[in-house]
Amino acid sequence: MKLKPWQIVSFGVLVLFIVIPFLFISIPHPLPLKRFLEKPPCSSGSETDKWLEGKILPGKGFEDSILAVDGFGLRQAMGIVNALRGEVDFRRLKAGQRFRLLLSPDGKRIVKFVFEPDIITRHSLVWNEEKKIYDYKLTVFPTKKRIRLIEGEIQTTLNQALKGRGGISSHLRNIANGVLECLVNLRRYARRGDRYRLLVEDRLYNGKLVPPSRILYVSYRGKRAGFHEGFRYDDEKEGSIWTGHYDRKGRALVYSSLRYPLNRIHVTSAFGWRRHPVTGKRSFHYGVDLRARVGTPVFAVAKGRVVRSGYRKPDGKFIELRHRDGTRTYYLHLSRILVGKGQVVRSHQEIALSGKTGRVTAPHLHFGIRAPNGKWLNPMSVRMIAAAKLPKRKMARFRKQVKEIQKQLSRQLEMAEKAAPLYQGSHSFQIANASPVIR
Ligand SMILES: [Zn+2]
Repeated sequence: MKLKPWQIVSFGVLVLFIVIPFLFISIPHPLPLKRFLEKPPCSSGSETDKWLEGKILPGKGFEDSILAVDGFGLRQAMGIVNALRGEVDFRRLKAGQRFRLLLSPDGKRIVKFVFEPDIITRHSLVWNEEKKIYDYKLTVFPTKKRIRLIEGEIQTTLNQALKGRGGISSHLRNIANGVLECLVNLRRYARRGDRYRLLVEDRLYNGKLVPPSRILYVSYRGKRAGFHEGFRYDDEKEGSIWTGHYDRKGRALVYSSLRYPLNRIHVTSAFGWRRHPVTGKRSFHYGVDLRARVGTPVFAVAKGRVVRSGYRKPDGKFIELRHRDGTRTYYLHLSRILVGKGQVVRSHQEIALSGKTGRVTAPHLHFGIRAPNGKWLNPMSVRMIAAAKLPKRKMARFRKQVKEIQKQLSRQLEMAEKAAPLYQGSHSFQIANASPVIR
């Protein structure tokens, strides 16, 4: 059939003025589109589903953060908190972490709850009407690993060197520093031109970094400091206390565990042979004397147990701590003891006030360290206290991981060399965001 011109024109008019406006005006937004826009993580709800969103609030717990979302009460919030207890570590909540929840049509119950502490982890709760409990499900989205080699030269301190380059969070910086501080007194022996090397493992999800990254390897080569390296060990059990950094022999490099006994350290009398200030005789000084006015807070240098405390003639008021690896530390001439015998003390816990009790000429803190074998050590050169050794049964796994890390390291070094063959023997420049080495 052939259409006449007036038929085409009137058809056009019909479409233009009636059909198209009708589409816009008369048909309401289709429901499926609306539901699509409403974030359905587990999409089996009625058309009236409306997700409420919230965030962990700064300085607030889980309950308070949920309660800050309008529309339901304490009992419902507690139901969620109780269902998640044991699944979510509430002590590790961070402000800004998101959750969302769905109320039943009558508004009386939270029927779905989704908590996403980071971009790859999703805790979901769905109300089970039959059993009258929440069914819990954990979803962890798979990430990709990325290994980075970071190395360079020290100008002032390692911390400054790491601060000056991108891609190293303060968390990683602290770990690298802490591990190396266990091996060598960097405050004393770091020199300009010393070199450091880090192997970092990142996790990526859709190209985005998922913290925390991990330091697999860290090494330091210094003129005075010598060469030191630490390896990461991952225990088979998630969250095990054994996961951490160790030297090649399996000795733990526990960062920030060794603290100073005073806030400010000024040695007035060093470890070793000296003429005794009171007796005038030549004698061995089994510790260091640190300048401290009477009443200065004295801290435990590591976690330990008070094995002896009290008063005895030459030492005055004193405390003796025993640490995990059998090392003992001694704090003498105190004015006040703040802990009791048998008590377990934290690292850096205030245990006493310094003083001038016992055989002294002036107020100070005498601080001593004794190795597990009974030998007195120079406290100023001891870097590891209470650092336990990896148990024998874990050593095979550790050695395997060390081997794997070394493989990764040489692969990265090779890649770095290939990337810049002109500068063979030095790799500090190939790393992304590296600051130029100043000599
Ligand atoms: Zn002394």
